[in-house]
Amino acid sequence: MRTCDFCGRQEDDEAATLSWSTAVERGRTRVFCDTCSREHLRAMEGKLDSEWW
Ligand SMILES: [Zn+2]
Repeated sequence: MRTCDFCGRQEDDEAATLSWSTAVERGRTRVFCDTCSREHLRAMEGKLDSEWW
């Protein structure tokens, strides 16, 4: 089971989390679901911390 660190969505199916993405911020690994990854792709590419989204 993985949990999206942004929206809190939980997914039991490992295959469904393949499109999820992870980002390391200040040494902490954060996990984002496919929806949040798409929504915040621009911010992620800008290497902005999620606190600034
Ligand atoms: Zn999410």
